[in-house]
Amino acid sequence: MKIGVLGAGVVGLTTAWWLTEAGHEVVLIDRAAGPAAGASGANGAQLSYRYVAPMASPKMLMQLPGLLLPGENAIRMSLDLELVGWGLRFLKACTSAEVARTTAAQLALAELSRLELERLLGKVPIDFGLRTAGKLVIFRSASDFAAARPGPSDPARVLTPAECLALEPGLALNESDFVGGVYTESEQVGDCAAFCEQLFAKLKESNRVEVRMNTAIGRPVVQRQRMTGVETDHGVIEADQFVLSLGSGARAFAKSCGFNLPVYPVKGHSITVADDGQSPLTHSVTDYSRKIVYAPLPGATRIAGFADFQGYDATPSEARIAQLKEAAADTFDIDCFCDAEPWAGLRPMTPDSRAVIGPSPLAGLFLNTGQGMLGWTLACGSARLTADLIDGKKPACPAGSFDVRRF
Ligand SMILES: Cc1cc2nc3c(=O)[nH]c(=O)nc-3n(C[C@H](O)[C@H](O)[C@H](O)COP(=O)(O)OP(=O)(O)OC[C@H]3O[C@@H](n4cnc5c(N)ncnc54)[C@H](O)[C@@H]3O)c2cc1C
Repeated sequence: MKIGVLGAGVVGLTTAWWLTEAGHEVVLIDRAAGPAAGASGANGAQLSYRYVAPMASPKMLMQLPGLLLPGENAIRMSLDLELVGWGLRFLKACTSAEVARTTAAQLALAELSRLELERLLGKVPIDFGLRTAGKLVIFRSASDFAAARPGPSDPARVLTPAECLALEPGLALNESDFVGGVYTESEQVGDCAAFCEQLFAKLKESNRVEVRMNTAIGRPVVQRQRMTGVETDHGVIEADQFVLSLGSGARAFAKSCGFNLPVYPVKGHSITVADDGQSPLTHSVTDYSRKIVYAPLPGATRIAGFADFQGYDATPSEARIAQLKEAAADTFDIDCFCDAEPWAGLRPMTPDSRAVIGPSPLAGLFLNTGQGMLGWTLACGSARLTADLIDGKKPACPAGSFDVRRF
């Protein structure tokens, strides 16, 4: 089959790879000149297979009124019409039952992703600083710490502040600055943009993939109620099947297809601080209270965070970048942010934080999008699931929870 993959972020690229592995021909289309031009750029670099709980939760429900007020919150919201509709679904997802359903589904998808990334790397050796660095989550509030205690089957370890400081000597904190930490040894880090660039180069070399960059996607071409092509600024591109992986552009495209896809752009920021090989940290560290992650990458430290519900502008905000620098200076011995590279991206987020993977209401169009905070972690599993479902195979992990009909 010839399959059009719409979007060359990490989700579209991995989808293209798994589809070619399954024997299909792919045409990969994106408006940018190169891959990872959207949220898959300088993201938090965490391959966070165990930390997959959704944003919508009973606890979040309690915090929401405060988030709507202006201030230095890690999460900011400016209400617009699209956010109101999305937000109503978000509120519906703030139940313990939904949290349990999402967590179970995402844990299975994350585990599949870990295995499928290994499989990909076995066939396509690419270097993107992948390292099992272990993830240390530090807590500054006793109630958050108590709520985060791992269950009996969870391999994570609970640490005192002294144990955290011994594990991660880069932390420039006193024991009294925080209440403890949770450490998961198996978690990984890796540079998503470097992964995308190298996978893109491999796909371009493949005689099964036609790459159409600098090509803006418009509306679908529909014949006899089936999508047979897509209009672009370079003419119509036809295929037997399409996969929608346009990140935060997915909702607009779905609308032009005649159905609603509740994917809202949740803006995050990062800085990348070059460190000539002497990273101030050895593990990946998450500052839970401030919603900031720190990842050691080859020759650099990535510092990322915040969740701003403020529309489609992906320009980095100077105030947010300053906040990241301030938090980092307060937490680690980082001498200078002189060459820190600022970046922002729009996470394609569903109200229940679950990806949307499966057929769409329009025949010929398949969905693989909405991975939100975890698109890098979940990309390989999502791509495998997409390929399985398109081929009518038994999916490699349960797929029902990701079906768009839940909305
Ligand atoms: C600050 C930040 C930190 C993050 N940290 C992590 C992390 O540590 N771990 C993790 O797992 N995830 C993380 N994420 C989330 C992750 O980066 C995203 O979920 C993931 O990159 C989404 O990938 P995507 O391919 O769906 O979308 P994108 O990467 O946004 O790709 C969509 C593509 O579609 C193209 N496009 C859109 N509209 C059109 C159109 N009309 N025509 C043509 N092309 C179009 C864009 O050019 C883009 O290339 C983070 C995100 C941010 C912003």
